[in-house]
Amino acid sequence: MTKETAHYQAGTKPRRILLLGGTGDSRELAEHLASRDDVEVISSLAGRTEQPASLPGGLRVGGFGGVTALADYLTREGIDLVVDATHPYAARISANAAAACRDSGTPRLHLARPPWRATAGDRWIHVADTKAAAEALPGLAERVFLAVGRGELDAFAGLPGIWFLVRTVDSPREKLPLERYEVVLGRGPFEVNGERALFALHGIQALVTKNSGGEATYAKIAVARELGLPVIMIDRPPHEAEETVGTVEEALRWIEGRL
Ligand code: NAP
Repeated sequence: MTKETAHYQAGTKPRRILLLGGTGDSRELAEHLASRDDVEVISSLAGRTEQPASLPGGLRVGGFGGVTALADYLTREGIDLVVDATHPYAARISANAAAACRDSGTPRLHLARPPWRATAGDRWIHVADTKAAAEALPGLAERVFLAVGRGELDAFAGLPGIWFLVRTVDSPREKLPLERYEVVLGRGPFEVNGERALFALHGIQALVTKNSGGEATYAKIAVARELGLPVIMIDRPPHEAEETVGTVEEALRWIEGRL
């Protein structure tokens, strides 16, 4: 008997859902699920943000310690369903979750917003990773909006001729590994007017970004298009073929089908 049918037949306990988070969609999903009596949602965050906005439902913070430890956690905590709503570039936790769910027989859904697609007027330069993004910059621009995570700035360290605008959620505690830069603090969603003003204030000539998808962080892409600026688009890492949906509504339907 699978975990699913065992709990269904018992008919009393709320179903326990582990929500691997760190995204706006995972927050939205937690908000929907926390209001229900028939499920108990536990959000899991890596712990990268110092003061994450408060989340409804249960919360655990920090890595699990790899595939086996995550599989043990799922069994020990009696997790019935896993929704991997981590960022599309958080490839390690997604691969770990896929393996741990397979090992423990736990149904898993991957919630990933569809990537943005270039439209008329966009000047996107597709690259596979941050290293390739850094290699594409010399000769292209001298003032660059670097909209990648703080953990990925090392790739841009060897570019002393380029000034970077770096946006972070928390104020960096240490000097960033860049020669010339300025930090602007901000947490999405971002509006077009604000992004337009930011580009103008700093004389931005190019944007480096991941293809996060969704609306919350799209404004910078629209502004780059409006200004005719090149965008170094770091394409998404591959994900294991799996059950994937693109919206919170679809994820709720998938969960509903298993309650
Ligand atoms: P990653 O490279 O895929 O994961 C590195 C390790 O961090 C994992 O092996 C795992 O540690 C731990 N981890 C990651 N996400 C976790 C979660 N939700 N709950 C518990 N442990 C987690 O991840 P990342 O790219 O550093 O991203 C970390 C977090 O930031 C994720 O929650 C992601 O959704 C969010 N985020 C990432 C990006 C991005 O561009 N990568 C952007 C926005 C938000 P163990 O192996 O010890 O379990």
